[in-house]
Amino acid sequence: MANCSICGRQAIYVAKSGGLALCKKHFLEYFDRKVRKTIRKNKLFNKNDHIVVAVSGGKDSLSLLHYLVNLSKRARMGWRITALTIDEGVSGYRNYTVKRVKELSSTLGVELKIASFKDYFGYTLDEVVKIGKERGLPYLPCTYCGVFRRYLLNKVAREIDGMVLATAHHLDDVVQTYLMNIFSNNWSSIHKLTPSLTSVHKLFVRRAKPFYELLEKETTLYAILNGLYPSERVECPYAPLSFRWQVRKVLNYLEELRPGLKYSTMRSLMEATSLKNTALGEAMTCRVCGEPSSREICKACQLKAELGLLELRR
Ligand SMILES: [Zn+2]
Ligand SMILES: [Zn+2]
Repeated sequence: MANCSICGRQAIYVAKSGGLALCKKHFLEYFDRKVRKTIRKNKLFNKNDHIVVAVSGGKDSLSLLHYLVNLSKRARMGWRITALTIDEGVSGYRNYTVKRVKELSSTLGVELKIASFKDYFGYTLDEVVKIGKERGLPYLPCTYCGVFRRYLLNKVAREIDGMVLATAHHLDDVVQTYLMNIFSNNWSSIHKLTPSLTSVHKLFVRRAKPFYELLEKETTLYAILNGLYPSERVECPYAPLSFRWQVRKVLNYLEELRPGLKYSTMRSLMEATSLKNTALGEAMTCRVCGEPSSREICKACQLKAELGLLELRR
């Protein structure tokens, strides 16, 4: 492998586009600079904020929790940090990741809140998928999971007095979502793909994506260097069935052919989101459950109705 562009020591990271090579020390500095820039530029956090970090137990969210706790100490930000884990109820998968979140939050000394689909909706994701099948609905486990998870993250973050909800979405995630929304011509969602998202709705907890400008391989390397990378790779059994999985594969393939393609797609997204002021988010109130919604009935209630778990009265 190449030598570090800064100190000449053995590099552990090489950026294919731009020819930058970095040793462990200089990679961690580069990582830190990039995240701090995103935080500063987009005013993601204020001093003494109560930050709720959405932690699934995967490498990215464990890295975010680890990074923010350390930054708060180093930069004397005085943040109160709570890890929030949603237990969707996927057998053979969640128990394992929940264990990892428990271990890291106790090592870091942060509070941990676990909220399950079963407690809030009455059904685990496995049960919801089964009900959908029985009713002959299209097989969309990741859609149910995504909608219900976002719904719960907002609701629970608010219930525990969080001021801002930080998620570990990195550049790869954002670019994937951007492309998926282009394919379905969903511009209202594209306009929400910003590092920070606020809403006029008072029940909506402000969102922050500190890893917005980092490549997935960079968050992965951070996880490895800090001992956060799982020794056993446990993927959600539903993930390979999602459209996102395919988009991710295609994007990685294209990046191999044309290094820098992810960055240029990101610049395209930034151009698109700057065309419109994005301080909107969910501005209506669901007439069924009272949570923030972008339409009369929120997506979570809509899905519940389709599954027969909720009766919609006209
Ligand atoms: Zn170096
Ligand atoms: Zn609702």
